[in-house]
Amino acid sequence: MLKEVLRHIEQRNRFLLTSHARPDGDAIGSALACCQILRLMGKEAEVVLRDGVPRIYQPLPFADKVITAERVNGRYEAAIILECDSIQRTRLEGLEDRFLISIDHHLSGRPFANVNWIDPKAVATAEMVYRLAREAGVAISPEIATCLYTAVLTDTGSFMFEGTNEHTFALARELVLAGADPAHCARNVYFAHSTAKMRLLGSALSNLHREGHLAWIWVTQDQMEQAGAKEEDCEGLVNYTLSIQDVEVAAFFRELPDGRFRVSLRSKGQLNVATVADRFGGGGHKCASGCSLDGPLSVAVARVIAQLGGSPPVQ
Ligand code: 5GP
Repeated sequence: MLKEVLRHIEQRNRFLLTSHARPDGDAIGSALACCQILRLMGKEAEVVLRDGVPRIYQPLPFADKVITAERVNGRYEAAIILECDSIQRTRLEGLEDRFLISIDHHLSGRPFANVNWIDPKAVATAEMVYRLAREAGVAISPEIATCLYTAVLTDTGSFMFEGTNEHTFALARELVLAGADPAHCARNVYFAHSTAKMRLLGSALSNLHREGHLAWIWVTQDQMEQAGAKEEDCEGLVNYTLSIQDVEVAAFFRELPDGRFRVSLRSKGQLNVATVADRFGGGGHKCASGCSLDGPLSVAVARVIAQLGGSPPVQ
């Protein structure tokens, strides 16, 4: 399939690259790296995302060139969609009638595009982008290496999630040899939080609930406003809950402006949270998944906790 993706790229000249809304490190890093790789192949390429680049990823090379838009208008010959299981997850309009190439590593990946390269064995979509560069004979520049390393670093939970293996470290080694600076990449991501995020964390942890191997927290729109926090400040808060001893599965609920709830699920490996998210129309990986549910909060919590094997909390 990699060869077929490359063949379709070679046949065309103008590319759009995109990923899912509320992009994470793999979405941003893979899109930025893939864009540079295409340019080194002599192609025209632009990254267009529905949501802007989160603050912690803004120092990445060429992040300032990302176009934020609700609709795709350009005369692109193909769109490469990274890390998405559907057009809908990009939340971009104007992709439907285009030639689409999907590159994704999700277990829940679906063949929605004209060409679908889905490899759940890859620890991050960035690993597939790296293989694409190698297959195309493109040398990995320090800028590409920095984007790919940051993507692998974040998508493996700093090389801690299940699925991290000797191949992950071999890939990291290649990227460091190509010019990625591990300390610099880590500093931008893990030591650059906003004060608002830390205030929101305090507020979220004050709502910590624990039941057996489950733990969950939430934040409401009021709490976010009080902390002065933005949507992106919620990323990673769920991991603090998972860090508790004997907690196997953690959930984070975030109230949306329309009263619905975004749920982030994390597992230490015993329970597959992708199947739980799937039951609510979401998806993801065995150890990290997400979905959205109607409110009110007590109902959303009760439904998710019940699916995770807990007894619904008393309302
Ligand atoms: P997060 O909790 O960080 O939003 O998402 C964790 C993982 O689940 C990510 O890999 C993300 O791509 C996936 N994910 C989150 N929400 C959804 C969703 O609504 N649908 C699908 N298919 N995957 C999701």
